[in-house]
Amino acid sequence: MSVLADLLSAIDGGSVEVVDLTAPLSESTPILQLPEPFSNTVPFALTEISRYDDRGPAWYWNDIHTGEHVGTHFDAPVHWITGRDGEDVSQVAPRRLVAPAVVLDASARAAADPDFVLEIDHVREWEKAHGPLPEGGWLFYRTGWDARSGDQAEFLNADENGPHSPGLSAGCARWLAEETPIIGIGVETVGTDAGAAHSFDPPFPCHSFFLGAGKYGLTQLRNLDRLPVRGAVVLASPLPIVGGSGSPARVLALVER
Ligand code: MN
Repeated sequence: MSVLADLLSAIDGGSVEVVDLTAPLSESTPILQLPEPFSNTVPFALTEISRYDDRGPAWYWNDIHTGEHVGTHFDAPVHWITGRDGEDVSQVAPRRLVAPAVVLDASARAAADPDFVLEIDHVREWEKAHGPLPEGGWLFYRTGWDARSGDQAEFLNADENGPHSPGLSAGCARWLAEETPIIGIGVETVGTDAGAAHSFDPPFPCHSFFLGAGKYGLTQLRNLDRLPVRGAVVLASPLPIVGGSGSPARVLALVER
């Protein structure tokens, strides 16, 4: 049999499971909230065009309103000033949208400290136990934050000092982006950076280093607890928005059972 026929029969037989890593899109999907004086994205919304009525007797359809960076989404290099000469989201090669993924689980640490930031040593420790980071693959950073995704306030976890959610240190972000062979970082939080990353040096180091290196981000992932530490194959499918800085994406993982 061919490889693809084998894959389809494995999916049919249940020895390969398709795991959806995507948050449902609705008006209550949590969105980023930047402080004054910065501009913010719109939330996701539907506007009905017709629903089997005078406006269209046999058909139901909607207009969608969304930002590029709403819900589970893909960050393209041009999203950040460091990547301004890089790819927009329509220019990302399809070949790069199918890639292996590994999962680094810091959910216990993030539960104990919502401002937890991953350091190089944590990744080296993970590599000792699980092998090297994948060439051309994703590092998925599990923090348990997806459990909060049903509620905007809980998800952003902000107080008078700003949001508190886990992320990566500037040193770790730089090292992963510049010294390792991964294609990008995937997270469960509203963005790839920690809630407090506005105060890091440089600010928003994940965005700065990953996108500056021509790498990618995936955010608001869920079900990372259903992936093996290594071995999953991920299909990320941002819309090819011409000139776009990112796009909502359906992210699926193929997992051997
Ligand atoms: Mn984004």
